[in-house]
Amino acid sequence: MKEINTCLICGSTKIEPFLVCKDYTVSQKDFRIQRCVDCNFKFTSPRPEDADLGKYYKAEDYISHSDTKKGLVNKLYHGVRSYTLIKKLQLVIQHTKLKSGKILDYGAGTGAFLNTCKTNKWDALGIEPDETARKVMNDKFGITSFPSLEEARQNTSFSGFDAITAWHVLEHVPDLKETITSLKWALKDKGIFIVAVPNLESYDAKHYRQFWAAYDLPRHLWHFEPKAITKLFSDNGFKLEKTLPMVFDAFYVSMLSEKYKTGGTNLIKAFMRGLISNIKANKTGKEFSSQIYVFRKM
Ligand SMILES: [Zn+2]
Repeated sequence: MKEINTCLICGSTKIEPFLVCKDYTVSQKDFRIQRCVDCNFKFTSPRPEDADLGKYYKAEDYISHSDTKKGLVNKLYHGVRSYTLIKKLQLVIQHTKLKSGKILDYGAGTGAFLNTCKTNKWDALGIEPDETARKVMNDKFGITSFPSLEEARQNTSFSGFDAITAWHVLEHVPDLKETITSLKWALKDKGIFIVAVPNLESYDAKHYRQFWAAYDLPRHLWHFEPKAITKLFSDNGFKLEKTLPMVFDAFYVSMLSEKYKTGGTNLIKAFMRGLISNIKANKTGKEFSSQIYVFRKM
């Protein structure tokens, strides 16, 4: 296990315990989240060594990496995903002001988003460590991908991106600052970097506390609030251009959290929690369960 003794965001060494959460999907073990006393940033520590992280992803119901369509909830998930894929591409088009260009999806999964880009005439490239997911991306969609940033950087096609996206990925990345620096290098000047991460300031996070599914320990290593993700990028030469809600996440996360908390499925209760979360967040505009941040390279 690896201890983190310095805050990634502000460099402070004043760290205190915040919360203990169980890994409900794979190991069923307890893990701890620590808090920076100076800037309030939260992170998983101690955490598995980088080389051991892979074994915490081996679960049937870790659906983001598979294409299974069993059951009502999965059907809903895939339905919502088709809708949001188009919305994501529209966001890229709106902020790059390009109808087609060159895009990199970091943590591309099975390539569903990149396929949406590709069918809309974008030159699409992926990075994805999971070999099974990468095979789907290649066989089903014919999209080129690399298993890591290191391998991608050795390829001449890996530069001059108009846009880079990372949908619910950065919270999984151990060497986060180095990764952002490398990705920035591959991005054109004034290019955009779109990031989606869960939001610790959301109502559902506060309501479900240690049962909040978006803590997802130990797979999530960093736990962001809007202030922390904004500072991480502004310190790296990016400017925040826009923040957007991901309204479906409140329902999905509440459904899982309800299951962790009570041991059973309660779709109506979860739906109500998701609804309350979105209604509350709508008032402040910055407390959605998960949020999208559009950054521009300066
Ligand atoms: Zn800090």
